[in-house]
Amino acid sequence: MTRRPVALTIAGSDSGGGAGIQADLKTFLGCHVHGMSAITAVTAQNSTGVAGIYELAASAVAEQIDVVVSDIGVEATKTGMLANADIINAVADAASRLQLGPLVVDPVCASQHGDPLLRQDAITALVETLLPCADLVTPNLGEVKVLTGLVVDDLDGMRAAARALHDLGPKWVLVKGGHLPSADALDVLYDGTDFIELTAPRRDTPHTHGTGDTLAAATTAALAAGADMITAVRAGKAYVTAAVDDSFPLGKGLGPVGHFWRVRPEAAS
Ligand code: PLP
Repeated sequence: MTRRPVALTIAGSDSGGGAGIQADLKTFLGCHVHGMSAITAVTAQNSTGVAGIYELAASAVAEQIDVVVSDIGVEATKTGMLANADIINAVADAASRLQLGPLVVDPVCASQHGDPLLRQDAITALVETLLPCADLVTPNLGEVKVLTGLVVDDLDGMRAAARALHDLGPKWVLVKGGHLPSADALDVLYDGTDFIELTAPRRDTPHTHGTGDTLAAATTAALAAGADMITAVRAGKAYVTAAVDDSFPLGKGLGPVGHFWRVRPEAAS
């Protein structure tokens, strides 16, 4: 019996199952890695928005990370909703003490409905404490504005934002341009030297809940399986593009992407 790759998500619970911890674990499954979780906050959430947020103590988040890493070990880790500065500081501390593997930071600030998922006073901690520990940070354009103050509306702006974010310490930056009004969904990957443009056909669907989590989780899974960063991000982008193709309506609002498209019965036939 051989060990299987293990990935850890440190993120919030989405009771609707479309984003957060639930999206990450389904995506890890679809990418054939064993998924572990450290929950930061529980959201009461459905397809129409976030009704309530219940944050865990930072010590409870640290304990979840400590016990799984010390026993099981982990090949790659991602962070999602971190809720507040104490939790961010606890995660950064864990990253400095423990072998978490490559660290993918999805700097989640708000849901697609505009509900805040990070306290305003936690942004400084995210920038100053966690970004310097990150191997990859994956902001959308709204998160770019929160983290750098830059307003991006074209490819040159995405490159400038990638440079500004790289100066904050992460080894790689993926600026996601999905909200730009272009024919394709364009992302820019930057390592401090070269820019790589990644494009995928844009799909006309409102059911995109969990897109960012799925991209970051699939990228983390590929890193856990041993891929280099460029290969992992390409795999993540391919995975989320197929998940958007597999999205479906659910509830009265925004439905989820199909995180587990690869393991649906018809996908196996
Ligand atoms: N809820 C939780 C717990 C999340 O972690 C996230 C995103 O990371 C969201 C909601 C928002 O997902 P979306 O922006 O795709 O609606």
